[in-house]
Amino acid sequence: MPRRPHAALVIAALTLLGCDRGGAELPAIEPAAAPMGSKCADDAGDAPIVSNLEDCPEPAIAPPPSAAPAVDAPNDAAQLAADAPATEEPEAVAAAPAEDAALPRWDVDAAGELRDADAAENDDDAADDGDDDESVDDDDPEAVWITHRVAPTETIRQLALRYRSDPGKIRTWNGLPSGSKVRAGKKLKILAKRTPPPREKIRLTATEDDTWGRIGHRFGVDPSDLRKANAHRVGRRLDPGDAIDVWYDPTIYAAIEGDDPPPGPAAAVSPGAYGIGRPQDGRLVNGARIPESDAYELRYPGSAWGTTAAVRALITAIHTWRADTGYAGRLAIGAMSRERGRKIGGHLSHQTGRDVDVRLPLREGLRQDLTPLGRRVDWWAVWRLFVVLEETGMTRRIFLDYKLQKRLYKAAKEHGVPAEVRRRMIQFPRGPGTNFGLVRHSPGHDRHFHVRFRCADYETECAG
Ligand SMILES: [Zn+2]
Repeated sequence: MPRRPHAALVIAALTLLGCDRGGAELPAIEPAAAPMGSKCADDAGDAPIVSNLEDCPEPAIAPPPSAAPAVDAPNDAAQLAADAPATEEPEAVAAAPAEDAALPRWDVDAAGELRDADAAENDDDAADDGDDDESVDDDDPEAVWITHRVAPTETIRQLALRYRSDPGKIRTWNGLPSGSKVRAGKKLKILAKRTPPPREKIRLTATEDDTWGRIGHRFGVDPSDLRKANAHRVGRRLDPGDAIDVWYDPTIYAAIEGDDPPPGPAAAVSPGAYGIGRPQDGRLVNGARIPESDAYELRYPGSAWGTTAAVRALITAIHTWRADTGYAGRLAIGAMSRERGRKIGGHLSHQTGRDVDVRLPLREGLRQDLTPLGRRVDWWAVWRLFVVLEETGMTRRIFLDYKLQKRLYKAAKEHGVPAEVRRRMIQFPRGPGTNFGLVRHSPGHDRHFHVRFRCADYETECAG
């Protein structure tokens, strides 16, 4: 029997407060990434580095002059305008084996305008429907006052995420000047909308086999936080016999200790990978890699990392879908996140291991390297894939350009999918700005779709 003492509490809190925000988001934009095939932005999102294409995160293109904000966009993306071929592009053009054609243009996912991450976060808050924002009022009936003792490396931002509170107010309540760092051990008064248990400390003596990374994975702690928290005692290098303090999150540790993966390929995905923050402003800790498989190809091996729950849901869905449909074409997975999350070129989201791009599957019998224009796509196969993604219980949204949703809708209707299921699954025909359906419009998602998975119950500092 796995020991998960606090899981029920966390699940209850997540249910109550709504991890699934379901509200509108505006596409926000990050600084231009370098053109495809030459350079790509590095993990930190600045300092372009020369790299071959496979190591680059998804490529970006030059921004079009304007990009209309779309409701509920995943923030990585107003693709194209400039670059995208018309939907009815002649077969011969796309089939031409020019070198460009071999490039993965389907997942060009660039932002339309450029803004910085702070602006993006504000936009996101502005578009929020309110049940997931980091604001809390003194008369909030759900909120309770708690005292939190700050653990090493813990930030005000993390505490705000953890307790669904507000970073500015946490500073005000505790007389902390804006921008100042809070020191470990300090006790803070926080009005909390949920109360996962705080981090706990365990003292370990390092063995021959221990590294910061291995201990971090074992306890669900960010290895660099672990190293920083112990720098004053053992320096940067961990040697056998060193005594170190591990400040672990009991909820995450319980998820690792009691890990009980579903049978099948998901069992190969490492436990305990989690996100901190929002998809458009966050990071991934102890990222889980999408395993290699004959069922799909990974177009960006350097950006094939996610949370344990998201990667498991993704590959379980794909394997189930293949078994159910017998689809024998090629399924190509684009960018998910970097191993440690944060920004990747051409996206604003994809920062916390819960977003992934998947190329629209072509009809069988077509050359599988063709651009997946609407008329070449196997829409019934897409529908079936969306259904199994929904059935994982972990899919929060699927983004697909509205102009293609009609094809999806038609395929479902032709195959006898009941109207109420169509209504639940897909925004069409209620308009691209409407707040209906698992499948939502986002401009630029017309060669691929984008899946956003939910925060898992063990992700105590996950939002959005
Ligand atoms: Zn995407």
